[in-house]
Amino acid sequence: MKNNKEILPLIPLRGLIVFPYMVTHFDVGRQKSILALEDAMIKEQRVFLVSQKDAKVEDPDEKDINEIGTICSIKQILRLPGDAVRVLVEGISRAKIDKYIEKDPFIKSGVEELIDTDDYDKTEAEALMRLIEKSFKKYIQLSGVVPKDALSSVEDIAIPGRFADIISSYLVINEDDKQEMLEAFDQVERLEVLLKILKNELQILELERKIGTKVKEKIDKTQKEYYLREQIKIMKEELGEDDEEKDEIKRYKNKISKAKLPAEAKEKALYELKKLENMGSYSSEGGGIKTYIDWILDLPWNKKTKDNLDIKHAREIFNKEHYGLEDVKERIIEYLAVKKMSNSLRGPILCLVGPPGVGKTSIARSIANAVNRNFVRMSLGGVNDEAEIRGHRRTYVGAIPGRIIYGMKKAKSKNPLFLLDEIDKMSSNYKGESADALLEVLDSEQNTTFRDHFLELDFDLSDVMFVTTANTLETIPMPLLDRMEIIEVSGYTYEEKFHIAKNYLISKQLKQHNIEDEDKIKFMDSSIYYIIENYTRESGVRNLERKIATVIRKAIAEIVEKNKKSININTNQVKKYLGTDVYTFEKIGKEDKIGVVTGMAWTAYGGDTLPVEAVVMPGNGKLQLTGQLGDVMKESAEAGYSYVRANAEKYNINNEFYKDKDVHIHVPEGAVPKDGPSAGVTMITALVSALSGRKVKHNVAMTGEITLTGRVLAIGGLKEKTLAAYRAGVDTIIIPKENEKDIKKISKSVREKLNFILAEEIDTVLENALIGGINNGNKTS
Ligand code: ADP
Repeated sequence: MKNNKEILPLIPLRGLIVFPYMVTHFDVGRQKSILALEDAMIKEQRVFLVSQKDAKVEDPDEKDINEIGTICSIKQILRLPGDAVRVLVEGISRAKIDKYIEKDPFIKSGVEELIDTDDYDKTEAEALMRLIEKSFKKYIQLSGVVPKDALSSVEDIAIPGRFADIISSYLVINEDDKQEMLEAFDQVERLEVLLKILKNELQILELERKIGTKVKEKIDKTQKEYYLREQIKIMKEELGEDDEEKDEIKRYKNKISKAKLPAEAKEKALYELKKLENMGSYSSEGGGIKTYIDWILDLPWNKKTKDNLDIKHAREIFNKEHYGLEDVKERIIEYLAVKKMSNSLRGPILCLVGPPGVGKTSIARSIANAVNRNFVRMSLGGVNDEAEIRGHRRTYVGAIPGRIIYGMKKAKSKNPLFLLDEIDKMSSNYKGESADALLEVLDSEQNTTFRDHFLELDFDLSDVMFVTTANTLETIPMPLLDRMEIIEVSGYTYEEKFHIAKNYLISKQLKQHNIEDEDKIKFMDSSIYYIIENYTRESGVRNLERKIATVIRKAIAEIVEKNKKSININTNQVKKYLGTDVYTFEKIGKEDKIGVVTGMAWTAYGGDTLPVEAVVMPGNGKLQLTGQLGDVMKESAEAGYSYVRANAEKYNINNEFYKDKDVHIHVPEGAVPKDGPSAGVTMITALVSALSGRKVKHNVAMTGEITLTGRVLAIGGLKEKTLAAYRAGVDTIIIPKENEKDIKKISKSVREKLNFILAEEIDTVLENALIGGINNGNKTS
């Protein structure tokens, strides 16, 4: 680089930097600067322009002035009114102050011109220039301050230094950045600095644009809303509804202050009310806010009923409202007594388990009556989503609280008896979230601060007495089962059903149909028995109650239509009202038959008899199974067949029977599908009977699982099974010895009328079921 040196008048600039190739004008007011200009004009019209470090300094000296500036040629001078002068200059080249020659009357300095040379990396420069061009294009678009033709003015420039300088002169950037550009002597370096500055500027512009649009959108929206709201206001004023809104806010405020809400809830309610006030209750969000505040106000945060833990009183209520169920009542009384001792109803949760219609719900209701608590009920059947228990967040459109909070609102007190029905039917999704949410509800450690997603406030559930019901324990998640005290409520015998109908259901239904005078519609005992036997087939009494209701309705119709005073319901009347008998085969046959055995089954709907039939016919050893057999029962049948083949001789059966005989086992279809291993003994008995030609006692029913060696294993649901067999008219019941302990669970009235035979081996079963015992048959083949 070969640099010229010369002595030039210096003008310090404030807030302006002139680049080489740049043509610009500026006003000069300071005396020293005007003198410098005049000096230049009489010489070569060249001047050195350099920026001041601090624009505020009036009379700058060396230290206040940057070292690098631009040599410019003066194109024009214009005298302005006053002493000022406007001057038009063109930048020639960069220069560096070498030394200060004079400071008065104006600054004169020796400067060294810095001329761009050819000594740079062309490829790098080219690459940088392309990038800069792109960015500059964008800059023009975004900034809006650069004339559109600026781009075309730089497109053809091949000299990087010049290219950079011209672009720099267009940029509206701060002075420091400009000075940095000026001080970049090396052309590639200058390009790099420029690119950096441009990128930086673009980022800022981009951000400004974004903020700008957001702000604009916001302003547009608020303006629109404001405008609309003002319109509504005016319309409301016209309609005289303006005060209505104010009244509404006032009403809410009043309610909130009177509601004795916990601090958190109160604060939230007031906060939402403020929002409502600002927004107007007719705004789109207004409705949602009102619903939310209503929810807060409607919940029983502090209301409590006073517990009555008087055991005698409880017993009276139980007896008044329910027939029988002695052991269930007793268990509940014990439970309440324990609670009375600890003076609180917290603790393990009661779970009433039993078939439908046996009175689980109504017992729970009685407990509520007895202890003087409000009663709410919620079914968990089919609940598979946590949100059903805990609610949806308010951000959802149409969000509502979950069932627990919903129940609490219905309860109207914070200590109700909350019945969670069908806890075994809660379908667990793969995450088990609903069961987890329920666990939290039931856990007294956690439920003081139950948080519903919708409400977003802690609600204290610890005073709630939870009671659950289930048909079976098998499908209840283990952690839930752990927290519960199980009370079994089993099915009813004919006699019990009769008493329940006579003393409870009929009067209840009459009352529901507004018949005060019980003599108006009178059921004869025989008609009640007739309904039970021929129109219902259930462990509970729900259908029975429905049938009674139907009879009552039809009787009322007849009374009204035929202008009768009263009706006595006898069996003929029942037949007339309820149509042909629905169930006729519930009773066992009265004859002893070959190959026909009464088994006992248990399902979630209660106990049932399970008739099994076997016949033998000429063939080649096939075992055919038909009817209502699940996989487990099929296996029992096959295992039974193998057992009989292996032990044929013992039972006076030709041990080669399979060579010329086929056996067919059939289980007639029943109302409720059944499957399980407990039909093992029934299968073997039917096979032995059919193959040996010995009759089976018709009054015997049996249940028991079987091993291949003939051992009889324990079964479940003895109580329900026994009841079903008893209802069907059986008097002898053969059960596994291991189930002996369960006999005491069967109600005394049933137990006393039955003869229980305990079997450890299949031989005991056969000995008691076959006419004449095991060995007394004729050998038939
Ligand atoms: P669950 O909840 O077990 O399905 P519910 O409680 O709904 O059964 O009972 C069905 C009907 O039978 C109810 O009207 C109930 O009052 C009545 N009920 C059941 N058991 C008895 C009983 N032991 N004494 C009087 N009424 C009963």
